[in-house]
Amino acid sequence: MADLMDKITSLAKRRGFIFQSSEIYGGIQGFWDYGPLGVELKRNIKNEWWKSMVQNRTDVVGVDASIIMNPKVWEASGHVSEFTDPLVECKVCHQRFRADKKAEIKAHEETHDEKVEWTNPRKFNLLMEAFLGVTEPKDKVYLRGEITQGAFVNFENVVSSTRVKVPFGIAQIGKAFRNEITPGNLTYRSREFEQMELEFFVEPKEADKWFKYWKEERLKWYESLGFKKDSLRFRVHEASERAHYAKHAEDIEYNAPFGWSEFEGIHNRGDFDLSNHKLKYMGEEGEFIPWVIETSGGVDRSALFFLIDAYHEEKGRVVLKLHPKLAPYKAAVFPLLANKPDLISKAKKIYDELKMDFNTAWDERGNIGKRYFAQDEAGTPYCVTVDFQTLEDDTVTVRDRDTTKQERIKVSELPAYLNLKLH
Ligand code: ATP
Repeated sequence: MADLMDKITSLAKRRGFIFQSSEIYGGIQGFWDYGPLGVELKRNIKNEWWKSMVQNRTDVVGVDASIIMNPKVWEASGHVSEFTDPLVECKVCHQRFRADKKAEIKAHEETHDEKVEWTNPRKFNLLMEAFLGVTEPKDKVYLRGEITQGAFVNFENVVSSTRVKVPFGIAQIGKAFRNEITPGNLTYRSREFEQMELEFFVEPKEADKWFKYWKEERLKWYESLGFKKDSLRFRVHEASERAHYAKHAEDIEYNAPFGWSEFEGIHNRGDFDLSNHKLKYMGEEGEFIPWVIETSGGVDRSALFFLIDAYHEEKGRVVLKLHPKLAPYKAAVFPLLANKPDLISKAKKIYDELKMDFNTAWDERGNIGKRYFAQDEAGTPYCVTVDFQTLEDDTVTVRDRDTTKQERIKVSELPAYLNLKLH
């Protein structure tokens, strides 16, 4: 199975999904860049999330808060004192690990047998510091450790500037930063990553009902984008592993090559945040502090797991069976032969029109088989080929990525055909 991670890593680089950050200078641990295909995949995930969590709902509005906030936010939120992981160091090789990641500890002990000796665990704060201003001493600030606080500190602004009433939610997508002790598994544990979160404010007595509701909604959303059913599960957090703000927490986990791994958390944060920030809400029966049900997903972890789940090797080809909504390119257009000007100009015309509405690739290199092979690896669901018959009757062949079957359709029907398949 570790082999699969190597294959995904190599495909991600070869095809332009994920590159090491600052690679020409030797990289920097825990930071990644998304290439031409990766940026499209990530953008599609975020767009689908926003559509389902904000656009299609009447009870959720969005915000986009700043990454650097007044440091008092992080004191009030408990992050300065509590946002820690337990760090242990192997006294023999000085490698550092998270004491709560039992599988990694065990793996290290097994490969280094009886020699292993650990330091006592010490708390390690994950907040990343930055320094602000031009004159010394500069002000110490933090790069946000979660995007969450940006929703809470805008609670009053949102209530007074919109017509939302409890129960309602504030949604946000954005970057977060953590001084992770053990970045690894490609983008899975990074030091800079993107989150997509909903903070949903409810009456305290309705918190359990909404927790259940959001758990189901979030699982349905992942399944609707193609995850295999048995590759996802919920896992309830034990009291000892719950974050400092959580009353109850469950993770959505994916059966990754490196074991079941969290990529979204559903948390009942109670009134922890609003009361720490001294915020209240005026309901019809008087003032109260709403409770918060949070859904906190990682864009990078989702992108990685969508890639892994979509990866198939069959009949001598590698194919990414990404859901068409997530696929970087929706279609590719080819002239059957690269040395026939008539075919090229007809194909270019079709390409120019299609790409106004669909992200479309163009390829005239090599033979048609090689082009299919390249688009399969990129996850492109439909390949459109312009051949000699096209010049006579204005029809093209459309080849389906998953079945490899081809059908002939009219050029004028291509947009409607793709629209139907993509929705
Ligand atoms: P872990 O136990 O794996 O460190 P966490 O429980 O601290 O994760 P949360 O604080 O609940 O994670 O963050 C919510 C989501 O943000 C996670 O489910 C994940 O998708 C994403 N996330 C958190 N930390 C990272 C990271 N270091 N790299 C990439 N994504 C992350």
